Amino acid sequence: MKKFSIAEMARRQVEKAAKMMNLSDHLLKIFMCPKRVLRVTFPVQMDDGTIQCFTGYRCQYNDARGPTKGGVRYHPDVTEDEVIALAAWMTWKCALVDLPYGGAKGGVICDPMRLSERELEKITRRYTTEIMPILGPQIDIPAPDVFTTSKTMAWMMDTFSMMTGHTEPAVVTGKPEVLGGSKGRKEATGRGVFINTRELYRKLGKSLKGTKVLVQGFGNVGSYAAYFLAKEGAKIIGVSDSSTGIIDENGLDVEDMMACIEKYKLLEAYEKGTKVPRDEILYKEADLLIPAALENQIHEDNADRIKVWAIVEGANGPTTPEADEILERKGVYIVPDILANSGGVIVSHFEWVQALSGLYWEEKEVNERLENKLVKTFNEVWEISKKMNVSLRIAAYMVALNRVAEVYKYRGIFP
Ligand code: GLU
Repeated sequence: MKKFSIAEMARRQVEKAAKMMNLSDHLLKIFMCPKRVLRVTFPVQMDDGTIQCFTGYRCQYNDARGPTKGGVRYHPDVTEDEVIALAAWMTWKCALVDLPYGGAKGGVICDPMRLSERELEKITRRYTTEIMPILGPQIDIPAPDVFTTSKTMAWMMDTFSMMTGHTEPAVVTGKPEVLGGSKGRKEATGRGVFINTRELYRKLGKSLKGTKVLVQGFGNVGSYAAYFLAKEGAKIIGVSDSSTGIIDENGLDVEDMMACIEKYKLLEAYEKGTKVPRDEILYKEADLLIPAALENQIHEDNADRIKVWAIVEGANGPTTPEADEILERKGVYIVPDILANSGGVIVSHFEWVQALSGLYWEEKEVNERLENKLVKTFNEVWEISKKMNVSLRIAAYMVALNRVAEVYKYRGIFP
């Protein structure tokens, strides 16, 4: 099988939109490459006394619009190629929702499920130290991503603060509230997925009540997306994580499942509903599918088996360009990742603003600002998609690329 490059997939999306908007060749050249990729390898003493070496990355894809922003993921499958793609998507995501940021992403190759808290802390602190030369509140601001949490961010913030000699809450976002984390940040990505879904349904004159939903991935994004949708009357009929799939035609109890995950980490411990192989839930008949796990989940070999009319991408890069074409032919609406999951980085921006100003907002204010930004962006993307007769993904890229292109128009090319 041909080796799949996620960075190549990210580049193809840009190329497609660039063609539709007659983007200049020189800008396309710039948009195809990351500005900076740092690879670090460092030793960590494990709980059993042995020394293990870990490899991590930080990619700053483009910083034309401001300091770079993006999460850090801990996963055994992290690669340089993946981190570059994710950093590119952060660039377009931040531009699309008009945040004063460029895009970045980091990752460490490790399996958090097999590491103790002490080991995770050591890995985090050492990784932070290694990428320190390119971190800072005005340079690059990490946040949580796959298998990293507010605790990881607290260790990063503390390490950065210790190394610089002063407390610096604005160097990461997604922190615990006592360290200057924003109210509403934890739920923000899932809330954003919900808002985007609601707007799509509104445009199509459909109701969320009783709509049948499948959720792939039950981490921070999938669980909160399911929670907010269920609160509006949607029926969550299938959910999966890395351990299993669970289905119930009458609707699963999302809060109950979240409580189970809190305690046991994996859905295999959940006793209600019917267990099915984890990928089965992708192919069930329903209205809406929310992929909220990893990249490359819906591809040319399985896109034909998907039986929903809408997909709202909670994960980054869950649908390949080939699958996009197959689903487009079938008339499936896809709210693209850079719009659907942008709620997280939007509230990260609010958190950074609060940390820099030292003035903290009530949750109501955070949620209202998030709501306004997402509804405005959704409408903008919807209008362009109608006007130009392109998919929501291409429309979203057109808005994003145009925003970055405008900056180059005024800043020019140095020197
Ligand atoms: N990791 C999240 C994302 O992919 C959040 C990034 C951030 O808040 O900086 O959008």
